[in-house]
Amino acid sequence: MSQHAPQDFPAIPATPIPDGYVVRDETLIPAGHGRAARVAAGEILQIVDVRGRQVTDIMAWRLADPDEYMSPGHTISCLTHLVPKEGEEVFSNHRRPLLRIRRDTVGSHDLIVPCCDPERYSRDYGLTDHRSCLGNIREGLELAGETWTPRAELAWNVFMNNVLQPDGSIKTLEPPHPPGSYIELDVLDDLGVVASSCPQDLTACNAWEITEMAFRILRPAS
Ligand SMILES: [Zn+2]
Repeated sequence: MSQHAPQDFPAIPATPIPDGYVVRDETLIPAGHGRAARVAAGEILQIVDVRGRQVTDIMAWRLADPDEYMSPGHTISCLTHLVPKEGEEVFSNHRRPLLRIRRDTVGSHDLIVPCCDPERYSRDYGLTDHRSCLGNIREGLELAGETWTPRAELAWNVFMNNVLQPDGSIKTLEPPHPPGSYIELDVLDDLGVVASSCPQDLTACNAWEITEMAFRILRPAS
């Protein structure tokens, strides 16, 4: 049996658990890979950056009707600004609120650009075998036996530090947030959620080092 050093499987950093909730499940997303989870209306989903300075791209589908899914474009339209804040909701392609941000210790997110996909690496870097968030999300779906259809433009690029410049260009900056940073989301509908630990190591997106991410799912205590 192979042995792994403890640092290969880091502990998921502790996060505050709101009164009236208990931890139902935790999932460590290996560095540069993807994992899926199902969450129920009334639960809380925490997305925790294990080592810090990492971006995670997430997609979500309604379990009752997977043709309805989290839509970054509709979210921007509903909010009329580019980055959702604490207390604001994230919407579906039918403008139904799916998630509400309870707490966000980072505050930087990108809902404009698609997640990285195989074409990003082949077109821009000439690489045909680089991992991608779209591939990671397919991996997460397959591991969980889920059949929802991922598309790069459906990703919310959580913790991504893309900054709109005065000339209209978008600049990707290194994310400065520390280990244990997290976003806490009220789950407003029964959802399937998939997350990728973004494997982009050719820009400042992940501060040049790809590391683990985690889900922590909380349910009402009674
Ligand atoms: Zn990516």
